[in-house]
Amino acid sequence: MGRTSKDKRDVYYRLAKENGWRARSAFKLLQLDEEFQLFQGVTRAVDLCAAPGSWSQVLSQKIGGQGSGHVVAVDLQAMAPLPGVLQIQGDITQLSTAKEIIQHFEGCPADLVVCDGAPDVTGLHDVDEYMQAQLLLAALNIATHVLKPGGCFVAKIFRGRDVTLIYSQLRVFFSSVLCAKPRSSRNSSIEAFAVCKGYDPPEGFLPDLTKPLLDHSYDPDFNQLDGPTRIIVPFVTCGDLSAYDSDRSYPLDVSALSTVGWMGGAVLCSQVLTMCVRTLPMCVPAARGWFRIQVHSTHAAPHLTA
Ligand code: SAM
Repeated sequence: MGRTSKDKRDVYYRLAKENGWRARSAFKLLQLDEEFQLFQGVTRAVDLCAAPGSWSQVLSQKIGGQGSGHVVAVDLQAMAPLPGVLQIQGDITQLSTAKEIIQHFEGCPADLVVCDGAPDVTGLHDVDEYMQAQLLLAALNIATHVLKPGGCFVAKIFRGRDVTLIYSQLRVFFSSVLCAKPRSSRNSSIEAFAVCKGYDPPEGFLPDLTKPLLDHSYDPDFNQLDGPTRIIVPFVTCGDLSAYDSDRSYPLDVSALSTVGWMGGAVLCSQVLTMCVRTLPMCVPAARGWFRIQVHSTHAAPHLTA
């Protein structure tokens, strides 16, 4: 069965159609906001890799800015216009695009930068992860130019082999970094979102577009960070059990969906409870982990600088 027909069965795809969102991805940003209050106090935002524009729709509706340009949306592809959203068509890894975005925020920085960028996947995991990391780093580089101190950066990541290096890099610039998986993001997908709060670049840091933040021609041993240089960021799932499961199929009758969602949640809860009762001593910590997995570590990576 082709990808399109799977997408059409998908409950978030149908809910997006029903609610006028341009893509099911809208729910990812909405669920991230539910968990992290991303839009609180935000008046200016950048949406990188924005087409077809559902994140820009969410931003333009949820944030308090006024007039055209309080949201700047950038993508390789053209997008249909949206109220309050200024569009830039370009490649975020290109200097010319980065400069155009930065220019817009000179003297009036942004509170939030989001990036849902995804390369065309090749199926070769290493290549796909590398391409994804490049997009994220390009987005981070732009964020270092446009974010106000204390600002927030949210970007899609692939939780692959080298992801700890990316976390280390993000921690250089943000006081809090964690990895979040919204319920609308399929479990079968390697994608998650780095949620970085409190933009706080190292003292003396001067953003420089000509220098990449991270050189990916690194030594692979260096990549396998260990001991105090290994950063394990908190992993948080967003959306409670009553939210639709993006990996399940639901009936086509969308009007019945809310009931089905609650029923599905209830069935799932009762299954978890039964399991816990049966194997109680072992299951208490396991059940906790079922609802929320959170691993804390605050080790810094002293040799990683901008
Ligand atoms: N957040 C969007 C929404 O809600 O509608 C969906 C984004 S879609 C998953 C990924 C987008 O990344 C595609 O539109 C693609 O054109 C864009 N993209 C990929 N590489 C890019 C690059 N180098 N520069 C700009 N956009 C890029």
